[in-house]
Amino acid sequence: MSRGPGAYRAEAARSLRDDPGVRDSVGSATRSFDTHRAKAYAEIDSERWRDWARDVKTHALTHLAEYLEQAETRLTERGVQVHWAETDRDALAVLDAVVGRHGIRTAVKAKSMVSEELGVNEHLERLGVRPIETDLGEYIIQLLGEPPSHIVGPAIHKSLDDCRVLFHERLGTPLDAPPDRLAGAARDALREAFLAADLGISGANFVAADTGTLALIENEGNIRLSTSLPRVHVAFVGIEKIVPHFEDLAGFLQLTARAATGQPIGNFVSLIQGPRTGDEIDGPEEVHVVFVDNGRTALLEDDEAWEALRCVRCGACLNICPVYRQTGGHAYGWTYSGPLGAIIAPGMLGLKQALPLPHASSLCGACADVCPVRIPIPDLLVYWRERAVEGGLAPLSEGLGAKMYAGLAERPGAFAAAAALMRHTPWKAVGRALPVLGGWMQERSAPEPSPKAFRRLWEEGIE
Ligand code: SF4
Repeated sequence: MSRGPGAYRAEAARSLRDDPGVRDSVGSATRSFDTHRAKAYAEIDSERWRDWARDVKTHALTHLAEYLEQAETRLTERGVQVHWAETDRDALAVLDAVVGRHGIRTAVKAKSMVSEELGVNEHLERLGVRPIETDLGEYIIQLLGEPPSHIVGPAIHKSLDDCRVLFHERLGTPLDAPPDRLAGAARDALREAFLAADLGISGANFVAADTGTLALIENEGNIRLSTSLPRVHVAFVGIEKIVPHFEDLAGFLQLTARAATGQPIGNFVSLIQGPRTGDEIDGPEEVHVVFVDNGRTALLEDDEAWEALRCVRCGACLNICPVYRQTGGHAYGWTYSGPLGAIIAPGMLGLKQALPLPHASSLCGACADVCPVRIPIPDLLVYWRERAVEGGLAPLSEGLGAKMYAGLAERPGAFAAAAALMRHTPWKAVGRALPVLGGWMQERSAPEPSPKAFRRLWEEGIE
């Protein structure tokens, strides 16, 4: 059970202490994702594509009401039932009605972070419906009873051996089964679920306003089955997923796949426009699209932080983040982890509830270097930290430290004396006993101080 963002420091420390395997699994998977991302960016003029994507999403967000209304009109024309959910309760109420009207007993789910955000599985269970995750990674963590650890690779924190043990216990595969045998066992189990389910639940990567088209990217084919086999399909879609034109999908589908997994495009792309019509042999009889706000409008109204809503949920910032790589996503205590989670949580949950996530970063800037929609992530992290100080939410020690430094920096004599003291302090011996520095030195060794002050070196002429 997640303890929320407020427990980040304790959960991160617990993970590093008790689950060293998590760091190994997350580190190796994210490095691989990032290597593939870099290669895939290099195959195209990625700088121009990223400028283009930033501009299109910015335009869509600054004309959001207009494009959402257009999408609603197009979807309704094709027989889709469109719902507007201001809160998670509003969104879940749509499920109440659908489940009650159709007597739903089993639901298959495509991977959808917004449904994680809303608590769809827990709600279905309360309604007496069995939700079955059909993405392999999601299926694994559902068997384990855990939330996703990464927005693209939900089971990224598990090793192959972890999965072998799990599948041996739950699906009867041998303990030394190769990965394709494990995938085959999951496929056999999920096939039964697809045939039994009368409700399919998905998200959407993008919605083209001018045609009312939902676009979904995947690699396993489970999204297509989840959205076309059951007789009812419900799609939960964050309101920020709108793009103006159908043609925009051509750019976003390839750029998102490159940023996420390094693929030129996902193995499957589903374009959904409505329920089955008279002459079609498959597809759901009823389609519902639930546009979800749940804090997004509050974020959009923030003059600085709104840019975070350009996010296409590719996970590239998580993959390259040296902080995320240490623990994976569970320590963050919220659906969205890593740099992405740290910049949207304060706007969507409220700054107080989101702390200390904006501090879970070294501000190295690597996330901004890879973001396909050029969100200025480090600037937004600093922005939320400043807001925390202004709102009296920052730790007293932080303000005290800044004041002490300012006092020294404004007095050259005192600054030189403090610098001399620091140069002659045996950091290796005493550093671990000091607050803040002690934590830093648990994993690192302090560099040797320079024997001479910088100003002295400057006066002597630095080589
Ligand atoms: S913030 Fe950027 S890099 Fe991170 S998930 Fe969103 S789009 Fe991808």
